[in-house]
Amino acid sequence: MPDPAKIFQELIKTARGRLMQKASLGTESWFRCGGRCGLLFYPADLKDLKDFLEQYPKDWPLITLGGMANTIVRDGGVRGAVIRLGKGFADIEVEGTKITAGAGALNGNVAQAAAKAGIGGLEFLSGIPGTVGGAICMNAGAYGSEVKDVLLETTAINRVGQKRYLRPDHLQMSYRHTELPEDTILIEAVFAGEEEDSEIVRERLKDIKAKRQETQPITEKTGGSTFANPDGHKAWELIDKVGGRSLKVGGAQMSEKHCNFMINTGTATAADLEALGEEVRSLVREKTGIELQWEIKRIGNKLT
Ligand SMILES: Cc1cc2nc3c(=O)[nH]c(=O)nc-3n(C[C@H](O)[C@H](O)[C@H](O)COP(=O)(O)OP(=O)(O)OC[C@H]3O[C@@H](n4cnc5c(N)ncnc54)[C@H](O)[C@@H]3O)c2cc1C
Repeated sequence: MPDPAKIFQELIKTARGRLMQKASLGTESWFRCGGRCGLLFYPADLKDLKDFLEQYPKDWPLITLGGMANTIVRDGGVRGAVIRLGKGFADIEVEGTKITAGAGALNGNVAQAAAKAGIGGLEFLSGIPGTVGGAICMNAGAYGSEVKDVLLETTAINRVGQKRYLRPDHLQMSYRHTELPEDTILIEAVFAGEEEDSEIVRERLKDIKAKRQETQPITEKTGGSTFANPDGHKAWELIDKVGGRSLKVGGAQMSEKHCNFMINTGTATAADLEALGEEVRSLVREKTGIELQWEIKRIGNKLT
Protein backbone atom coordinates (compact mmCIF):
# COMPACT_ATOMS: atom_id res chain seq x y z
CA MET A 1 0.00 0.00 0.00
CA PRO A 2 1.41 3.42 -0.93
CA ASP A 3 2.34 5.72 1.96
CA PRO A 4 -0.52 8.30 2.45
CA ALA A 5 1.95 11.06 3.38
CA LYS A 6 3.91 10.43 0.15
CA ILE A 7 0.75 10.45 -1.95
CA PHE A 8 -0.25 13.76 -0.36
CA GLN A 9 3.17 15.25 -1.12
CA GLU A 10 2.75 14.25 -4.77
CA LEU A 11 -0.84 15.53 -5.03
CA ILE A 12 -0.08 18.87 -3.41
CA LYS A 13 2.61 19.56 -6.04
CA THR A 14 0.07 19.70 -8.85
CA ALA A 15 -3.24 20.60 -7.17
CA ARG A 16 -4.43 24.08 -8.03
CA GLY A 17 -7.53 23.89 -5.83
CA ARG A 18 -7.53 23.62 -2.03
CA LEU A 19 -6.14 20.28 -0.84
CA MET A 20 -5.98 19.46 2.86
CA GLN A 21 -4.78 16.49 4.83
CA LYS A 22 -6.73 15.20 7.88
CA ALA A 23 -9.25 17.94 7.28
CA SER A 24 -12.17 18.69 9.52
CA LEU A 25 -15.11 17.52 7.41
CA GLY A 26 -18.09 17.16 9.74
CA THR A 27 -17.89 20.80 10.78
CA GLU A 28 -18.34 21.72 7.09
CA SER A 29 -21.71 19.93 7.01
CA TRP A 30 -25.00 21.66 7.73
CA PHE A 31 -25.09 19.78 11.05
CA ARG A 32 -21.68 21.27 11.99
CA CYS A 33 -20.45 18.15 13.76
CA GLY A 34 -18.65 14.91 12.99
CA GLY A 35 -15.18 13.68 12.14
CA ARG A 36 -12.32 14.36 9.76
CA CYS A 37 -11.38 12.88 6.41
CA GLY A 38 -8.02 11.66 5.08
CA LEU A 39 -7.87 14.22 2.28
CA LEU A 40 -10.26 17.00 1.36
CA PHE A 41 -10.01 18.45 -2.12
CA TYR A 42 -11.85 21.37 -3.70
CA PRO A 43 -10.76 21.09 -7.35
CA ALA A 44 -10.22 24.39 -9.13
CA ASP A 45 -11.75 23.06 -12.35
CA LEU A 46 -12.25 19.86 -14.35
CA LYS A 47 -8.60 19.57 -15.38
CA ASP A 48 -7.54 19.89 -11.73
CA LEU A 49 -10.03 17.17 -10.77
CA LYS A 50 -8.81 14.86 -13.54
CA ASP A 51 -5.16 15.41 -12.55
CA PHE A 52 -6.03 14.52 -8.96
CA LEU A 53 -7.85 11.35 -10.04
CA GLU A 54 -4.94 10.30 -12.19
CA GLN A 55 -2.57 10.38 -9.21
CA TYR A 56 -4.90 9.19 -6.47
CA PRO A 57 -4.62 5.40 -5.91
CA LYS A 58 -7.50 3.70 -7.72
CA ASP A 59 -8.24 1.32 -4.86
CA TRP A 60 -8.43 3.99 -2.14
CA PRO A 61 -11.84 5.19 -0.95
CA LEU A 62 -13.23 8.32 -2.61
CA ILE A 63 -16.47 10.20 -1.99
CA THR A 64 -17.88 13.25 -3.75
CA LEU A 65 -19.91 15.75 -1.77
CA GLY A 66 -21.61 19.04 -2.56
CA GLY A 67 -23.15 21.39 -0.01
CA MET A 68 -23.36 18.68 2.71
CA ALA A 69 -26.97 19.67 3.41
CA ASN A 70 -28.03 16.02 3.45
CA THR A 71 -25.04 14.39 5.08
CA ILE A 72 -23.98 13.32 8.57
CA VAL A 73 -20.25 12.65 8.93
CA ARG A 74 -19.75 10.05 11.65
CA ASP A 75 -17.43 11.04 14.51
CA GLY A 76 -14.68 8.55 13.60
CA GLY A 77 -14.29 10.29 10.24
CA VAL A 78 -14.02 9.21 6.62
CA ARG A 79 -11.13 7.17 5.23
CA GLY A 80 -9.55 8.29 1.98
CA ALA A 81 -10.37 11.37 -0.03
CA VAL A 82 -13.43 13.57 -0.18
CA ILE A 83 -13.92 15.73 -3.24
CA ARG A 84 -16.18 18.71 -2.80
CA LEU A 85 -17.39 20.52 -5.86
CA GLY A 86 -17.83 24.21 -5.27
CA LYS A 87 -16.82 27.45 -6.97
CA GLY A 88 -14.79 25.75 -9.74
CA PHE A 89 -17.96 23.98 -10.90
CA ALA A 90 -20.56 26.65 -10.29
CA ASP A 91 -21.08 28.27 -13.71
CA ILE A 92 -24.66 28.71 -14.86
CA GLU A 93 -25.58 29.41 -18.49
CA VAL A 94 -28.99 30.04 -19.98
CA GLU A 95 -29.98 29.25 -23.55
CA GLY A 96 -33.65 29.61 -24.42
CA THR A 97 -35.52 27.59 -21.81
CA LYS A 98 -32.51 25.41 -21.00
CA ILE A 99 -30.10 25.97 -18.14
CA THR A 100 -26.68 24.38 -17.98
CA ALA A 101 -25.21 24.40 -14.49
CA GLY A 102 -22.02 23.05 -12.97
CA ALA A 103 -22.56 20.33 -10.36
CA GLY A 104 -21.20 22.68 -7.70
CA ALA A 105 -23.71 25.46 -8.48
CA LEU A 106 -26.14 26.12 -5.66
CA ASN A 107 -29.73 25.10 -6.38
CA GLY A 108 -30.85 28.52 -5.21
CA ASN A 109 -28.65 30.21 -7.84
CA VAL A 110 -30.08 27.96 -10.58
CA ALA A 111 -33.62 28.94 -9.53
CA GLN A 112 -32.65 32.64 -9.49
CA ALA A 113 -31.04 32.42 -12.94
CA ALA A 114 -34.19 30.74 -14.26
CA ALA A 115 -36.40 33.45 -12.79
CA LYS A 116 -34.21 36.21 -14.28
CA ALA A 117 -34.38 34.57 -17.72
CA GLY A 118 -38.16 34.08 -17.55
CA ILE A 119 -38.01 30.30 -17.19
CA GLY A 120 -40.63 28.61 -15.04
CA GLY A 121 -40.64 25.12 -13.53
CA LEU A 122 -37.38 25.28 -11.57
CA GLU A 123 -38.72 27.33 -8.65
CA PHE A 124 -38.84 24.33 -6.32
CA LEU A 125 -35.02 24.23 -6.36
CA SER A 126 -34.89 27.59 -4.60
CA GLY A 127 -35.81 26.11 -1.25
CA ILE A 128 -33.49 23.12 -1.41
CA PRO A 129 -30.08 23.84 0.14
CA GLY A 130 -27.03 22.35 -1.53
CA THR A 131 -25.66 21.88 -5.01
CA VAL A 132 -26.85 20.60 -8.37
CA GLY A 133 -24.77 17.40 -7.91
CA GLY A 134 -26.39 16.66 -4.56
CA ALA A 135 -29.85 17.46 -5.92
CA ILE A 136 -29.43 14.99 -8.80
CA CYS A 137 -27.97 12.31 -6.55
CA MET A 138 -30.92 12.67 -4.13
CA ASN A 139 -33.54 13.37 -6.81
CA ALA A 140 -34.38 16.27 -4.51
CA GLY A 141 -37.86 17.70 -4.63
CA ALA A 142 -40.44 19.95 -3.06
CA TYR A 143 -43.98 21.16 -3.66
CA GLY A 144 -44.85 18.35 -6.07
CA SER A 145 -41.78 18.72 -8.31
CA GLU A 146 -38.54 16.79 -8.28
CA VAL A 147 -35.26 16.94 -10.16
CA LYS A 148 -36.12 14.13 -12.55
CA ASP A 149 -38.99 16.26 -13.94
CA VAL A 150 -36.63 19.02 -15.10
CA LEU A 151 -33.33 17.24 -15.74
CA LEU A 152 -32.49 16.70 -19.41
CA GLU A 153 -29.01 15.29 -19.00
CA THR A 154 -26.07 15.22 -16.62
CA THR A 155 -22.39 14.90 -17.40
CA ALA A 156 -20.28 12.70 -15.16
CA ILE A 157 -16.76 11.39 -14.98
CA ASN A 158 -15.54 8.17 -13.41
CA ARG A 159 -12.41 7.38 -11.41
CA VAL A 160 -10.28 7.30 -14.55
CA GLY A 161 -11.63 10.62 -15.75
CA GLN A 162 -13.80 9.23 -18.58
CA LYS A 163 -16.80 11.41 -19.43
CA ARG A 164 -20.33 10.03 -19.65
CA TYR A 165 -23.60 11.70 -20.48
CA LEU A 166 -26.50 10.34 -18.44
CA ARG A 167 -30.22 10.97 -18.86
CA PRO A 168 -32.84 10.48 -16.13
CA ASP A 169 -33.92 7.18 -17.74
CA HIS A 170 -30.33 5.91 -17.35
CA LEU A 171 -30.42 6.83 -13.68
CA GLN A 172 -33.68 5.17 -12.58
CA MET A 173 -34.62 8.24 -10.61
CA SER A 174 -37.44 7.76 -8.13
CA TYR A 175 -38.57 9.43 -4.91
CA ARG A 176 -35.34 10.74 -3.27
CA HIS A 177 -33.31 8.13 -5.09
CA THR A 178 -30.96 8.02 -8.08
CA GLU A 179 -29.11 4.94 -9.22
CA LEU A 180 -25.66 6.38 -9.90
CA PRO A 181 -23.02 4.04 -11.30
CA GLU A 182 -20.31 3.48 -8.67
CA ASP A 183 -17.53 6.10 -8.50
CA THR A 184 -19.54 8.55 -10.58
CA ILE A 185 -18.67 12.20 -10.13
CA LEU A 186 -21.35 14.45 -11.55
CA ILE A 187 -19.83 17.58 -13.02
CA GLU A 188 -22.60 19.34 -14.94
CA ALA A 189 -26.31 19.19 -15.71
CA VAL A 190 -28.79 20.57 -18.21
CA PHE A 191 -32.27 21.45 -16.97
CA ALA A 192 -35.30 22.43 -19.01
CA GLY A 193 -38.10 24.73 -17.95
CA GLU A 194 -40.87 26.62 -19.70
CA GLU A 195 -41.07 30.18 -20.93
CA GLU A 196 -42.84 32.30 -18.30
CA ASP A 197 -43.08 35.87 -17.15
CA SER A 198 -40.06 36.71 -14.99
CA GLU A 199 -42.15 38.59 -12.44
CA ILE A 200 -44.52 35.64 -11.96
CA VAL A 201 -41.59 33.27 -11.42
CA ARG A 202 -40.02 35.73 -8.94
CA GLU A 203 -43.31 35.90 -7.00
CA ARG A 204 -43.28 32.10 -6.70
CA LEU A 205 -39.73 32.24 -5.33
CA LYS A 206 -40.89 34.73 -2.70
CA ASP A 207 -43.80 32.44 -1.73
CA ILE A 208 -41.47 29.47 -1.38
CA LYS A 209 -39.09 31.49 0.81
CA ALA A 210 -41.92 32.62 3.08
CA LYS A 211 -43.33 29.08 3.33
CA ARG A 212 -39.90 27.68 4.25
CA GLN A 213 -39.35 30.30 6.94
CA GLU A 214 -42.73 29.53 8.42
CA THR A 215 -42.54 25.73 8.41
CA GLN A 216 -38.88 24.68 8.61
CA PRO A 217 -36.07 25.34 11.13
CA ILE A 218 -33.90 26.77 8.34
CA THR A 219 -31.66 28.82 10.64
CA GLU A 220 -30.72 25.74 12.72
CA LYS A 221 -27.94 23.25 12.18
CA THR A 222 -30.01 20.65 10.36
CA GLY A 223 -30.03 18.31 7.37
CA GLY A 224 -33.60 18.69 6.12
CA SER A 225 -35.95 15.71 6.25
CA THR A 226 -34.38 12.94 8.30
CA PHE A 227 -36.56 10.17 6.90
CA ALA A 228 -38.21 9.64 3.54
CA ASN A 229 -42.00 9.52 3.51
CA PRO A 230 -43.11 5.86 3.50
CA ASP A 231 -45.71 4.94 0.82
CA GLY A 232 -49.06 6.45 1.77
CA HIS A 233 -47.70 8.21 4.88
CA LYS A 234 -45.92 11.36 5.89
CA ALA A 235 -42.85 10.73 8.04
CA TRP A 236 -43.52 13.82 10.17
CA GLU A 237 -47.08 12.68 10.98
CA LEU A 238 -45.82 9.27 12.12
CA ILE A 239 -43.09 10.89 14.24
CA ASP A 240 -45.58 13.28 15.79
CA LYS A 241 -48.05 10.48 16.51
CA VAL A 242 -45.49 8.44 18.47
CA GLY A 243 -44.28 11.41 20.54
CA GLY A 244 -41.10 12.09 18.60
CA ARG A 245 -41.54 15.86 18.31
CA SER A 246 -38.80 17.61 20.36
CA LEU A 247 -37.33 14.24 21.44
CA LYS A 248 -33.67 14.62 22.50
CA VAL A 249 -30.56 12.48 22.64
CA GLY A 250 -27.53 14.39 23.97
CA GLY A 251 -27.30 17.57 21.93
CA ALA A 252 -29.52 16.27 19.11
CA GLN A 253 -33.21 17.05 18.95
CA MET A 254 -36.16 16.44 16.64
CA SER A 255 -37.27 19.95 15.74
CA GLU A 256 -40.29 21.42 17.49
CA LYS A 257 -41.11 23.33 14.29
CA HIS A 258 -40.86 20.40 11.84
CA CYS A 259 -40.55 17.08 13.62
CA ASN A 260 -38.97 15.21 10.68
CA PHE A 261 -36.03 17.66 10.87
CA MET A 262 -33.27 16.81 13.27
CA ILE A 263 -31.19 19.61 14.75
CA ASN A 264 -27.85 19.98 16.44
CA THR A 265 -28.73 22.21 19.40
CA GLY A 266 -25.05 23.15 19.72
CA THR A 267 -23.35 20.22 21.44
CA ALA A 268 -24.49 17.25 19.34
CA THR A 269 -22.06 14.65 18.10
CA ALA A 270 -22.83 12.67 14.98
CA ALA A 271 -23.44 9.71 17.33
CA ASP A 272 -26.16 11.74 19.13
CA LEU A 273 -27.85 12.52 15.81
CA GLU A 274 -27.72 8.92 14.66
CA ALA A 275 -28.90 7.55 18.02
CA LEU A 276 -31.82 9.98 18.02
CA GLY A 277 -32.77 8.91 14.49
CA GLU A 278 -32.65 5.24 15.49
CA GLU A 279 -34.75 5.93 18.59
CA VAL A 280 -37.38 7.64 16.43
CA ARG A 281 -37.31 4.72 13.98
CA SER A 282 -37.88 2.18 16.74
CA LEU A 283 -40.71 4.22 18.29
CA VAL A 284 -42.44 4.41 14.91
CA ARG A 285 -41.80 0.70 14.24
CA GLU A 286 -43.16 -0.38 17.67
CA LYS A 287 -46.24 1.81 17.60
CA THR A 288 -47.23 1.70 13.91
CA GLY A 289 -45.38 -1.25 12.37
CA ILE A 290 -43.91 1.11 9.74
CA GLU A 291 -40.17 1.08 9.02
CA LEU A 292 -38.83 4.59 8.41
CA GLN A 293 -35.87 4.81 6.03
CA TRP A 294 -33.12 7.39 6.46
CA GLU A 295 -33.16 10.08 3.77
CA ILE A 296 -30.04 11.69 5.25
CA LYS A 297 -26.83 10.03 4.10
CA ARG A 298 -24.46 8.92 6.85
CA ILE A 299 -20.83 8.52 5.90
CA GLY A 300 -17.65 7.41 7.65
CA ASN A 301 -16.98 5.41 10.79
CA LYS A 302 -18.33 5.48 14.31
CA LEU A 303 -15.86 6.14 17.13
CA THR A 304 -14.90 2.89 18.78
C1 LIG B 1 -33.05 23.34 5.76
C2 LIG B 1 -33.04 22.20 4.76
C3 LIG B 1 -34.15 22.01 3.96
C4 LIG B 1 -34.18 20.95 3.02
N1 LIG B 1 -35.28 20.77 2.22
C5 LIG B 1 -35.28 19.81 1.27
C6 LIG B 1 -36.41 19.63 0.40
O1 LIG B 1 -37.39 20.35 0.45
N2 LIG B 1 -36.35 18.63 -0.53
C7 LIG B 1 -35.27 17.81 -0.63
O2 LIG B 1 -35.29 16.92 -1.50
N3 LIG B 1 -34.20 17.96 0.20
C8 LIG B 1 -34.17 18.93 1.13
N4 LIG B 1 -33.08 19.07 1.95
C9 LIG B 1 -31.94 18.14 1.84
C10 LIG B 1 -30.83 18.64 0.90
O3 LIG B 1 -30.93 20.02 0.70
C11 LIG B 1 -30.90 17.91 -0.45
O4 LIG B 1 -30.81 16.52 -0.30
C12 LIG B 1 -29.78 18.40 -1.39
O5 LIG B 1 -30.04 17.88 -2.67
C13 LIG B 1 -28.41 17.97 -0.92
O6 LIG B 1 -27.44 18.54 -1.77
P1 LIG B 1 -25.93 18.69 -1.30
O7 LIG B 1 -25.16 19.28 -2.41
O8 LIG B 1 -25.86 19.38 0.00
O9 LIG B 1 -25.56 17.14 -1.15
P2 LIG B 1 -24.56 16.45 -0.10
O10 LIG B 1 -25.21 16.39 1.25
O11 LIG B 1 -23.22 17.05 -0.18
O12 LIG B 1 -24.53 14.96 -0.70
C14 LIG B 1 -25.71 14.20 -0.79
C15 LIG B 1 -25.43 12.97 -1.65
O13 LIG B 1 -25.14 13.37 -2.98
C16 LIG B 1 -23.87 12.86 -3.38
N5 LIG B 1 -23.25 13.88 -4.23
C17 LIG B 1 -23.20 15.22 -4.00
N6 LIG B 1 -22.61 15.85 -5.02
C18 LIG B 1 -22.25 14.89 -5.92
C19 LIG B 1 -21.59 14.92 -7.18
N7 LIG B 1 -21.15 16.05 -7.76
N8 LIG B 1 -21.38 13.73 -7.82
C20 LIG B 1 -21.79 12.56 -7.26
N9 LIG B 1 -22.44 12.48 -6.08
C21 LIG B 1 -22.66 13.64 -5.41
C22 LIG B 1 -23.11 12.61 -2.10
O14 LIG B 1 -22.11 11.61 -2.24
C23 LIG B 1 -24.23 12.16 -1.17
O15 LIG B 1 -24.52 10.80 -1.37
C24 LIG B 1 -33.05 20.11 2.90
C25 LIG B 1 -31.91 20.33 3.71
C26 LIG B 1 -31.91 21.36 4.62
C27 LIG B 1 -30.67 21.58 5.45
